Amino acid sequence: MTEKQARCTVCAKVLETDGTICQACQESIRGEAVGKQKKVGADAKKAMKKHGQKPPTK
Ligand SMILES: [Zn+2]
Repeated sequence: MTEKQARCTVCAKVLETDGTICQACQESIRGEAVGKQKKVGADAKKAMKKHGQKPPTK
């Protein structure tokens, strides 16, 4: 008996709802994305200072 069950593409857990990833992974990915954005922003500022460029002032 082959039952087609959607599985989370991140943790391979069987999904109870429609979608490609489970809620837990969705939340963790969202959190990671936000953290990465912040980190990238800080790195970009450091890199600009390194090159003697002033970071854009807001
Ligand atoms: Zn998952």
